[in-house]
Amino acid sequence: KVIFFNNLSDFMEKTLVILKPSAIQRSLVGEVVSRFEKKGLQIVGMKMVSLSDAILEEHYAHLKEKPFFKRIKDSMQVTPVIVMALEGLEAVDVVRMMTGPTNGRKAHPGTIRGDFSVSVQENIVHASDSPESAAVELKRFFTEEEIFSYPRPTFANLYAND
Ligand code: GDP
Ligand code: MG
Repeated sequence: KVIFFNNLSDFMEKTLVILKPSAIQRSLVGEVVSRFEKKGLQIVGMKMVSLSDAILEEHYAHLKEKPFFKRIKDSMQVTPVIVMALEGLEAVDVVRMMTGPTNGRKAHPGTIRGDFSVSVQENIVHASDSPESAAVELKRFFTEEEIFSYPRPTFANLYAND
């Protein structure tokens, strides 16, 4: 189904991606960033950070009671990570589709996890799962000054109104 957008800016979204230690350790940073760039997503924020216990307990609060929670937390602290803010039309869905499902062994080839991961835990990237969580997660990892707005000469080539 083709949706026609009367006002593109109404459907513009920002989403959070984290290049996890599995991406850093396996030298996949360029590869993964390149996929998002080539797709047409706009990088509007990007930095390397070490994740504290506190931020991980907040970020993965939905998993806090799981027996594997400590393993997830440890694995997210093995190296610093790279956090990215990506912008585009329906960017949350686009990025989740490109990421693939949690389990790398079940993720289809062509997705980031499907191409680079054979693990549930070591699955290369985090991506926000809804516009609501994207808003919360972007605030968690970026200050307002770290999210940029700048013109894209290619905008009209990327998006018609469909
Ligand atoms: P995501 O949104 O696809 O990243 O999946 P979730 O929000 O359910 O889980 C967050 C992250 O926790 C996943 O990306 C995995 O790295 C990790 N994780 C989820 N489920 C498991 C599990 O059953 N075992 C382990 N070891 N890690 C898990
Ligand atoms: Mg999740």
